Amino acid sequence: MKIIFLLIAVLLVWWILKTLRGNRKADARPTVQNMRACEYCGLHVPEEEAIQNQGRFYCCKEHAQGKPD
Ligand SMILES: [Zn+2]
Repeated sequence: MKIIFLLIAVLLVWWILKTLRGNRKADARPTVQNMRACEYCGLHVPEEEAIQNQGRFYCCKEHAQGKPD
């Protein structure tokens, strides 16, 4: 019977390691962001931080409004 418990223990450790590795991959995903070039100055900013105006992306509110810094 001991071998069955050993097998279960090995499978459990393997499953935990697999799950941890999977979580690490999921955590790494948000660091890969889509970069958008500002329509005004051409500066590349992450899509999350970019200001969107009429389907175009800008680095700041001023550039979205067409004003210089
Ligand atoms: Zn800009």
